[in-house]
Amino acid sequence: MQNYRKQEKPGREEREDREFRPYYRRKVCRFCTDKTPLIDYKDVQTLRGFVTDRGKIMPRRISGVCARHQRELTTSIKRARNIAFLPFTERG
Ligand SMILES: [Zn+2]
Repeated sequence: MQNYRKQEKPGREEREDREFRPYYRRKVCRFCTDKTPLIDYKDVQTLRGFVTDRGKIMPRRISGVCARHQRELTTSIKRARNIAFLPFTERG
């Protein structure tokens, strides 16, 4: 009578280390990371990125911009609108 061990499990669980985050949510404001002191209303390229297709200003929860920069952003977008860089709303 042989005494053999049955210790080894065939499907041993391999736990992966979750050290790295697969989805890194960028909660940090883009302008803060870029160290933009003031958002230029003439910088249409940047402003366009925070305006929807319909010409609306992106809400903060989507854009992820901090309160301070969101405020600047809105001011800049509104200013840009006034000098016709950006449309108020696009019809359609
Ligand atoms: Zn910011």
